Amino acid sequence: MQSYRDVFAVESSEEYERRHRNMCSGGKREIAVHVVLGNRRARVDHARWLIDCGCGSGAIIDTDLDTPVARCFECGAVHHGIEIPPRSERREIEAVLDARGDDRLRHWIPPETIADLRAENTRHGV
Ligand SMILES: [Zn+2]
Repeated sequence: MQSYRDVFAVESSEEYERRHRNMCSGGKREIAVHVVLGNRRARVDHARWLIDCGCGSGAIIDTDLDTPVARCFECGAVHHGIEIPPRSERREIEAVLDARGDDRLRHWIPPETIADLRAENTRHGV
């Protein structure tokens, strides 16, 4: 699995927030960082927890936080109120996906269950 730390080469939630803010205002871009409240559903895409932002881009979720937040580098949105499984369930999902050899095969979409993912692994000889 890849966390926001891997994707953005940052060490912490604070650094991720700074990186987002700096990317939105700097160089040629000037995008307003803004909060979006809503129940966007988290999913795993290519081994990354993300949500689909309203702008059409994917926003990587900071899953280190007790209340996960997703940041969109395309439109500046900071998504709160994400619908995401609790940490313990995420760890189970990640363990089943980690058994797959390749990030390109690591996907989860609600309402898939752990049993669904395990069955998928079994069907593919994992
Ligand atoms: Zn966006």
